[in-house]
Amino acid sequence: MIIQEEFSSAIALNPTNLLQFGSAIRRATQRHQFVTERPTAIYYSDFSMTAALITVRPEGLYCAAGNFYIDPWKPVETALITHAHADHAYSGHQHYYATALSEGILRKRLGQDIDLSGVSYGEKFKLGDAWVSFHAAGHVLGSAQVRVEHKGEVWVASGDYKRGSDPSCDPFEVVECDSFITEATFGLPIYRWDSGAVTAEQIYQWWQRDLTRPSLLFCYAFGKSQRVLAELAQLSDRTVYLHGAVHTLTEIYRDLGIHMLPTLPVSQMEKSYSFAGDLIIAPPSGYRSSWMKRFKRPQTAFASGWMAVRGARRRRGYERGFVLSDHADWPGLIQTVTQTKAKTVYVTHGQNDVLSRYLSEEMGLDASPLKTLFEGETEDAAAV
Ligand SMILES: [Zn+2]
Ligand SMILES: [Zn+2]
Repeated sequence: MIIQEEFSSAIALNPTNLLQFGSAIRRATQRHQFVTERPTAIYYSDFSMTAALITVRPEGLYCAAGNFYIDPWKPVETALITHAHADHAYSGHQHYYATALSEGILRKRLGQDIDLSGVSYGEKFKLGDAWVSFHAAGHVLGSAQVRVEHKGEVWVASGDYKRGSDPSCDPFEVVECDSFITEATFGLPIYRWDSGAVTAEQIYQWWQRDLTRPSLLFCYAFGKSQRVLAELAQLSDRTVYLHGAVHTLTEIYRDLGIHMLPTLPVSQMEKSYSFAGDLIIAPPSGYRSSWMKRFKRPQTAFASGWMAVRGARRRRGYERGFVLSDHADWPGLIQTVTQTKAKTVYVTHGQNDVLSRYLSEEMGLDASPLKTLFEGETEDAAAV
């Protein structure tokens, strides 16, 4: 229900923005009212073309030619994992394929002993009768799109992706294909991001504004925290203190050579240490928790794409909100679909009906929404 509420607010944010995107969006606005229902049970669409290279089964996206799944929700024999966020990487699969850059984080989250093959970006390998390769998605470290080729036909499943620059991961690679499965977490015309560097400058100014208090910044432990640390390294050389969940993942990034500000876990500091003037990064689950009592008179902020939605910050009680998303904004989604040259597009995550309607009615593509269990950037899913 929170999601539904937020999208109502999103329209209120600037309704005139919607008008320039033509009749399709206006009709979609009236018809769908931007309501998203989060699936409560295994929930898949009637998308079941027998000839399609990738279909949806109750377990997840399935490729019959290669007998594998992409980011499946239920235990399967062979799972290709686009990245280690909770709505894409589940435990219980017999064999995993993922990028080598994802391996450390996947093992941390799913267990050190999972049977996992780490592959490089662009490396082609054969599963059954299909050729498969992973390509950078620009979402978080190691995140990938999956390219599948069979009998001259090419499909790409995007996983989560963004187009803006991010010093903590490889940039998105455009992969041309016949059919493209895209996410649409922020698939409304109102979503347009500033660059990460601009937002990092705002975070830095906020941190420096009052050096008598600790500055507590809440954001997802995996991906967002390290992106902030990498962006801030352009502006400062001060040590940043981390919640335990953020610390563990940040060490994996550092081991893989990502340049970030120096960090220390909060737990290593003396009881008497005040953190006045320090920046502390924690996952959303740390907000108003007993962990937070450690800090006297902190100023608080939350960094997320959802901070673009009017009222979202206030509802959560943060003093400041910084708009920083690891998902493509509306222009990024349209640009990407165009660049792939795909004639057929399936849309997952969030606002999939609005984007698919726009692609069909305004761009003449064969586009349709695909119901999956992917959640995108939710408030809690990626918190730990
Ligand atoms: Zn993700
Ligand atoms: Zn996702």
